[in-house]
Amino acid sequence: MNSDNNNNDQHFMQRAFELAQQAEQLDEIPVGAVVVYQGEIIGEGFNQSILLNDPSAHAEMIAIRQAGKHLNNYRLLDCTLYVTLEPCPMCAGLLVHSRVKRLVYASPDLKTGAAGSAFNLVDSSQLNHQLVVNNGIMAEQCSELLSGFFKRRRAEKKSNKKLILNKK
Ligand SMILES: [Zn+2]
Repeated sequence: MNSDNNNNDQHFMQRAFELAQQAEQLDEIPVGAVVVYQGEIIGEGFNQSILLNDPSAHAEMIAIRQAGKHLNNYRLLDCTLYVTLEPCPMCAGLLVHSRVKRLVYASPDLKTGAAGSAFNLVDSSQLNHQLVVNNGIMAEQCSELLSGFFKRRRAEKKSNKKLILNKK
């Protein structure tokens, strides 16, 4: 049973990883998420904040909106959300509101993660819903995708600056 669960987790995190790669191709911070209900993906998303001019367009937000439409319900009871990076406070709050049962994330976000790293909103007795949380599946791949992205972006900014300076 347990190893079945692990296999499934690996499978769904792989899909979240592919979505994160799609975000990267669009120059968005590479984070991907899927919502799973009864062994089936019912919502998918990747970061699109820049593309949509929408600071709330995080991967989790998009996946959960899609899942709610699919279930025709604003509560995502018995669903699991897989995401490649530990959710931020906004998305962790959304997970509580949506009553998602379980959260599985790959890499921790030590600076702003709200599922135990910097804050813990998903398992707080002050809120009216707590999630089961698992982490670490595909953590290395997912954090490498992120750190590679930021490294490249820093290098691009630097070379842009040089171009501007050279023109003066
Ligand atoms: Zn978020």
